[in-house]
Amino acid sequence: MDLIEGISDNQVVAVLDIGWGDSGKGKISDYLASLEDGSGKRLFSAVYRPNGGPNTGHTVYHKGEKVVFHLIPSAALVPGLECIIGRMVSFDPVVFSSELENVKRFNPDPNIEIDGSAHVIMPWHIAVDRLREIVGSGSIGTTGKGVGPCMETRCSRKGFVTVDMLADSKTLENMVEEAVLRFEPEIIDLMRRLTVISEGYNDGALNYLATVNMGNDKTLKDFFRGDGRIDINAVLEFYTAHGTSLSKYILGDLLPTIRSTLEEGERILVEGTQGALLDISYGTYPYVTAGLVTRPGLEHDAGIPIDLGINVTKAYATRVGRGPFPTEILDSDLANRLREAGGEYGATTGRPRRVGWLDVVALDHALFLNHGAWGKRIVAVTKLDVLGGFKPRIYNDYKVDGSETDIFCYDEISRATGGSYIEFDEIEDVRGLSRFSELPRNASAYIDAIESNARADVILIGTGQGRHSVIIS
Ligand code: GDP
Repeated sequence: MDLIEGISDNQVVAVLDIGWGDSGKGKISDYLASLEDGSGKRLFSAVYRPNGGPNTGHTVYHKGEKVVFHLIPSAALVPGLECIIGRMVSFDPVVFSSELENVKRFNPDPNIEIDGSAHVIMPWHIAVDRLREIVGSGSIGTTGKGVGPCMETRCSRKGFVTVDMLADSKTLENMVEEAVLRFEPEIIDLMRRLTVISEGYNDGALNYLATVNMGNDKTLKDFFRGDGRIDINAVLEFYTAHGTSLSKYILGDLLPTIRSTLEEGERILVEGTQGALLDISYGTYPYVTAGLVTRPGLEHDAGIPIDLGINVTKAYATRVGRGPFPTEILDSDLANRLREAGGEYGATTGRPRRVGWLDVVALDHALFLNHGAWGKRIVAVTKLDVLGGFKPRIYNDYKVDGSETDIFCYDEISRATGGSYIEFDEIEDVRGLSRFSELPRNASAYIDAIESNARADVILIGTGQGRHSVIIS
């Protein structure tokens, strides 16, 4: 498929991650949003982030500088776009404010619109997320940004949404008081347990909270009193101040605006977050994110159907945090070499990512989740340049309990290890290439193997960090 023609033929185009996240979606989105049609008009008039939160980081290199997006769409540096933050984003005003400052350095007057029903991460969400990870028995390696607990509150129908930050002080106070009643007992219990287990640090639970930055010289500790109870006045003051400074961006229901954009014949670029294998329903539960991240999930959260999905995978595999990873490279020297070559450290936490070889069983599963058995499988492969000098493998099946299987099955995935694989000769340097026909022999064989084994049509290859370091069809 010709990339630009394919986009021109569709109105709602989505960038979807078909791995465990971190595939380089931010760069792909930034690139796609910068494309123009034959007449010099941008292909997209709006870019839309329907879900996700501060636990996800999307990196874009712009004018040689690294810009990391969490809540604002990654294409926000492309001037003139409407940038929509949807209602299933877990909205942290501190993260948003600092991201906005960063965006303004390159795009001084971004057109950002925040859905009034996006749920707000409150200090107690961050506190329970972090404390549960430390003292609970079932740590799952969350980023500690409060997203899971914020979604829990949403499901209990007791959440704060962005327009609540604009409410009058009495209404806000009532809401905060009610939330405190619900969260305080768990926080006090977790703090007590942390203080007990951390006697060795000699600093206690409150001092742990003091290490969590909340912007404007505040830390998480500033929202708690000495006895570990929540300081309601501190919370009110904080959210009222953020509501005032962000009021111009917090709008009501954005779906009518999205609808009229489409009815006027414009195109929207939808940005997915995380990766299909981290989907709460179809990923490797419980080592998953707290939301829906496959194509149907993204459509649900966006409120609109997606016409064309561009499925992004790295040329190799990575996973951050715990959970099954059948094709993980266990040779630590080789793993370190690949991690360093790819800069595989979390954009949000800086944690080293686990690295592995491309896993066609997992890719096929993700593509099935996104497009069903016979749908078009349009794929972008990022970071092919990173494999320069490596002899990569592509795994075609798993070994589970001594047998081989090419089916990704939730019951078995935690016992699966890499099975049969294709090994490739050393991949050449592909930096600076811009056409498929220029791909050298081994790199070309590698892409061909992805296409044939995953039944995919590779329409874009990443050859470097910059916006234009791509090969397109
Ligand atoms: P995302 O969350 O999917 O956007 O991915 P991350 O931001 O966590 O990580 C992707 C990293 O890979 C970023 O630092 C990107 O700049 C970088 N990246 C994306 N595509 C390419 C590529 O084709 N080559 C190289 N070398 N880096 C890339």
